[in-house]
Amino acid sequence: MTTAGPTPILLSPPHLTGEERAFVEDAFRTNWIAPLGPNVDAFEREMSDTLSSPGCTLHCCATSSGTAAIHLGLSLLGVQPGDLVLCSSFTFVASANPIRQLGAEPVFVDSDEASWNLSPAALRRALETLAAEGRAPRALVAVDLYGQGCDYAAIEAICDEFDLPILEDAAESLGASVHGRRCGSFGRIAALSFNGNKIITTSGGGMLVSQDPAFADRARFLATQAREPAPHYEHQVAGFNYRMSNVLAGIGRGQLRTLADRVARRRAIAARYEAALAHRPGVSFMPSPVWSRSTRWLTALTLDPARAGCTRDELMAALAAERIESRPTWKPMHMQPLFAGCRMFAHDPARAPVCERLFAHGLCLPSGSSLGDADQSRVVSAAERALSPRAVAVA
Ligand SMILES: *Cc1c(COP(=O)(O)O)cnc(C)c1O
Repeated sequence: MTTAGPTPILLSPPHLTGEERAFVEDAFRTNWIAPLGPNVDAFEREMSDTLSSPGCTLHCCATSSGTAAIHLGLSLLGVQPGDLVLCSSFTFVASANPIRQLGAEPVFVDSDEASWNLSPAALRRALETLAAEGRAPRALVAVDLYGQGCDYAAIEAICDEFDLPILEDAAESLGASVHGRRCGSFGRIAALSFNGNKIITTSGGGMLVSQDPAFADRARFLATQAREPAPHYEHQVAGFNYRMSNVLAGIGRGQLRTLADRVARRRAIAARYEAALAHRPGVSFMPSPVWSRSTRWLTALTLDPARAGCTRDELMAALAAERIESRPTWKPMHMQPLFAGCRMFAHDPARAPVCERLFAHGLCLPSGSSLGDADQSRVVSAAERALSPRAVAVA
């Protein structure tokens, strides 16, 4: 390499261990180069062992992506054309797309200032308002934002009252817990993601998780084109081609062994950013409520430009100038042109939605578990320089 400048630091690149290779080679050696196979079965079993706790056995169906798991999960919950489905607004688009793909209409719910996650107050108001209109939504997609589980104690109580099933979008929260209970075990169904940027990866993949073995069985059926038991190809319902490949499940098995280390590393990275930057004027990190143990998938913060000495976009540009990748926090779904016209329930109906401010001023810092200490020092120094009070006072 020539003098191309410092090596780029990426937001959340895949982090392989070498342990994956043996499982992948086994798939080659036995010619199991197909969706389904022994690695898929074992990966599902091993994930079930990881997420289950005494009195709570989880059943898993590995899928081709997290989005596929959400799509499958919502169809298992009976979402149909014309239905309403509640969904966190402050999330990645894949939480909401499957709602539309099933012909249903998303209704978005704001974040809570205290956790940045789904606001129980807004959720209750959404359900009461819709009930007064004679409408009962079919499901709630509750998103564990940036690896932090939702306040499920409050959310489950509200959903029980309104008989509303929860689909937990745990794409970012594998390895996290809420009140000591593992993320991925909440709701009627949960969806995990093993995309390249997630806590663990299969390059692309996901998993549907449920306490109800019937859901996992039905998911397996629907995910393999809904083939009825018959020697010929017999179909009564439209299924999907959503199963995980046996090769990729081998990567997942190797990755899963390192889950605790991966989460510990992301949490250490977040702690170091906070120790270095949280005391700076105008800098606020995503809060971690006492009941939550987050994966810290991405460390996220907001900047108050009046006090921080720079705007979010200026900080992002300063990092980019040193080849450091950062990203604005999610643009809320209710602000997306794709979902123009969809309803949105704010945390406080008298004020602008909380998530609009979190998007306007929010930034995610490089947080991959492979980020080394020296590289993190580069990020911290670049951020410190950008956050230095301006020499010229603003009138
Ligand atoms: C990554 C992600 C998904 C989608 O997962 P894929 O495996 O990429 O399809 C869904 N929801 C959230 C919140 C995500 O971060």
